[in-house]
Amino acid sequence: MINIDKIRKDFPILNRKVNGNPLIYFDNAATSQTPKMVMDVIVDYYSNYNANIHRGVHTLAQEATEAYEGGRRKIQQFFNAAKSHEIIFTSGTTHGINLVAQGFTHFVKEGDEVLVSAMEHHSNIVPWQMLCDRTGATLKVIPMNKEGVLLMDKYQDMLSEKTKLVVCNHVSNALGTINPIEEIIPMAHAVGAAVLIDGAQSSPHIKVDVQKLDVDFYTASAHKLCGPTGIGMLYGKEEWLAKLPPYQGGGEMIAEVTFEKTTYADLPYKFEAGTPNICGGIAFGAALDYLNQIGLDAIEQYEHELLEYATKKLLKIDGLQIYGTATDKTAVISFNIKGIHPYDIGTLLDKMGIALRTGHHCAQPVMDYFQIPGTIRASFSFYNTKEEIDRFLDCLEKARQMLT
Ligand code: PMP
Repeated sequence: MINIDKIRKDFPILNRKVNGNPLIYFDNAATSQTPKMVMDVIVDYYSNYNANIHRGVHTLAQEATEAYEGGRRKIQQFFNAAKSHEIIFTSGTTHGINLVAQGFTHFVKEGDEVLVSAMEHHSNIVPWQMLCDRTGATLKVIPMNKEGVLLMDKYQDMLSEKTKLVVCNHVSNALGTINPIEEIIPMAHAVGAAVLIDGAQSSPHIKVDVQKLDVDFYTASAHKLCGPTGIGMLYGKEEWLAKLPPYQGGGEMIAEVTFEKTTYADLPYKFEAGTPNICGGIAFGAALDYLNQIGLDAIEQYEHELLEYATKKLLKIDGLQIYGTATDKTAVISFNIKGIHPYDIGTLLDKMGIALRTGHHCAQPVMDYFQIPGTIRASFSFYNTKEEIDRFLDCLEKARQMLT
């Protein structure tokens, strides 16, 4: 059970006003807000043990190293990875995907195929296009239908011995669809292909077990999980991470350097060149502690209630169309109102204190599929309430009347 009054007290930003009105923050798919306890961890790091890690013998360096590696272990536990060295710290989902795409330069060649879903964020499209440009491999798109659901029979038909990699988001940021990755992954494995799942939108809302999924790579961003920006994670199966070449060269990622030859550090450090985002790694772990305290199951259930409540009421609005009507959805509602540009609604709602996203949501192919320039996207989190949804609906109706 969610104790909403207690939870809201953890997020100081929810008390602020925007344009004279209490803030309603419905842009959680873009980034989540940060609880006070995570901010305290950041202040504590810089107040008490700010130091570079891994190399120092002094106390501060040891404390910082311990806390940073503790963050890695918390991530390992959160996603149930078998080993902590299967967790690579990245700057975010985009970095994790690029790391794998760069590494796969050595594992795909002309004639091979990379399959990508039709509802990907640009960060899970462009790196694969670049990989195909480098190697001569072909990018193929798994189609979806008007509900925003992937066509699994078409996916089955596309799989062959040419398929080397299947990449797909767990949840679409533009539509909210939860993709059936429990089916997508074994189907790819049956033809010998590896699978990368973009977990940027699922990790904050659904319990993920990378071992149970048997996924090869899984990526997430701390800033969508109540943590800070600039830090994220890539899970990779040990056998894959051992095979992939380093992404960047520099300090931290080496075993031995001479001008003739360099040998690389063991996992995970092989992929972590340079001084990392130490405080970010520690704060990421703290953010996961916070989410665990509430419980992912409770979060999922509560957010689903918000989704159903808002969807029912939105559909009563004249001329309103929702994009992404899958039965399996997270609390993301992408919509338009006939004859009104999404940007105009977004601007008016901001004047009323409501933060939501308008535009193509870094998923232009999804917008092209629906033949629209963009949508208005309301995305909820466990700290949002039905009362906020009611006020949002009143304000939306006001905005609609002003614009028609
Ligand atoms: N994939 C999806 C589905 C996303 O929603 C996002 C963030 N909007 C990303 C990837 C990229 O995440 P980041 O910008 O944190 O690297």
